Amino acid sequence: MADAILVVNAGSSSIKFSLFVSRAGSLCMVIRGQIEGLFTNPRFVAKDDAGAVVSEKSWGDGTQLGHAGALDHLAGFIRGELAEHRLVGVGHRVVHGGLEYTQPVRVDARVVTELEKFVPLAPLHQPHNLTPIRLLLERQPGLAQVACFDTSFHRTNPEIAQRFAIPADLHDAGVRRYGFHGLSYEYIASVLPQHDARAAGGKTVVLHLGNGASMCALASGKSVASTMGFTAVDGLPMGTRCGAIDPGVILYLMDQRGMDARAIEKLIYNQSGLLGVSGISSDMRTLLASDDLRAKLAIDLYVYRIRRELGSLVAALGGLDAIVFTAGIGENSPEIRERVLNDAEWLGVKIDRHANADGGPRISAADSRVAAWAIPTNEELMIARHTQRLLRH
Ligand code: ADP
Repeated sequence: MADAILVVNAGSSSIKFSLFVSRAGSLCMVIRGQIEGLFTNPRFVAKDDAGAVVSEKSWGDGTQLGHAGALDHLAGFIRGELAEHRLVGVGHRVVHGGLEYTQPVRVDARVVTELEKFVPLAPLHQPHNLTPIRLLLERQPGLAQVACFDTSFHRTNPEIAQRFAIPADLHDAGVRRYGFHGLSYEYIASVLPQHDARAAGGKTVVLHLGNGASMCALASGKSVASTMGFTAVDGLPMGTRCGAIDPGVILYLMDQRGMDARAIEKLIYNQSGLLGVSGISSDMRTLLASDDLRAKLAIDLYVYRIRRELGSLVAALGGLDAIVFTAGIGENSPEIRERVLNDAEWLGVKIDRHANADGGPRISAADSRVAAWAIPTNEELMIARHTQRLLRH
């Protein structure tokens, strides 16, 4: 009987999952899907590796399925799918591992209590990431669980890169730059040697451009700096998040507009970024297809901020061998990649327009001093690999 690993990514209103099986020594994703609208209009869909729907269910408008109900349904579905396999463990994406968790960890009740300490650092995500872990510990105590963190990969950043210029007692209390999207960067670092040995051993900037967006500087495959900070709202403008903003703006909103923390949270996480600037959409495809000048401005600002952050990360690295694009926009938008690479010409990168239009993976010209790549990320596979590795020991 072959081993199977379930990967779970739980959010406030959805649970995404992927099922991996071990085949000839490597992990293959066989099914992925999600249950969304957990508290409003729950819908389950599961697809096979070719994207064909294998199971669907809707509970109807107004049903409060919640995380517990969703996990019950998922457990039943997985049991039905696993006739020839044995579920050996569940790997969870957990946003925050603080300073302590520099690696994934096998979870028990003590570890969950430790991870709850980080809820104040990521109140929008951490509680939801932990809910299925807690539920599974209660219901299936014999089932091994592993937590993989978005912050861990950045713990190799030098102290100075993690520091805000604020009084030491606040820094010591944990107000520092953590960095996020670590599982994506770790995956890219793990496959980079297959594409570009020079970049893997040298200086690379990776652009994770999805709904959330950030950039990471890799020196010999290790993170040395990134654009996200204390929270995942810092750095680049994103679908609905504002990215870096003068902290004085927050004070102004409180003092002059009477906004409280919740109202500001909504503004900077849900109403800003591409959506806020365009007033049209947070979806890059919609904006690229639009003739509206506000859509153009949103894209111009997005690309401009990438250009600025790229310069900053190259300065942190002290040079550049390669640029890697990944995630929804990075993998699928030749137009955004071309604009970013044209802006980066001064760094020694020369685009191959045909290769870029075809999706790469190499998208720089043969005589480009700095290589450019478009490489799909796979955070779920990274979690499955970590889970398998930890369960072996
Ligand atoms: P998440 O961070 O939620 O995982 P994704 O990595 O799936 O998000 O990225 C979503 C973003 O990718 C959206 O802005 C979407 O418009 C964009 N995207 C997907 N396909 C394309 C495409 N062909 N061209 C431009 N943008 C795309």
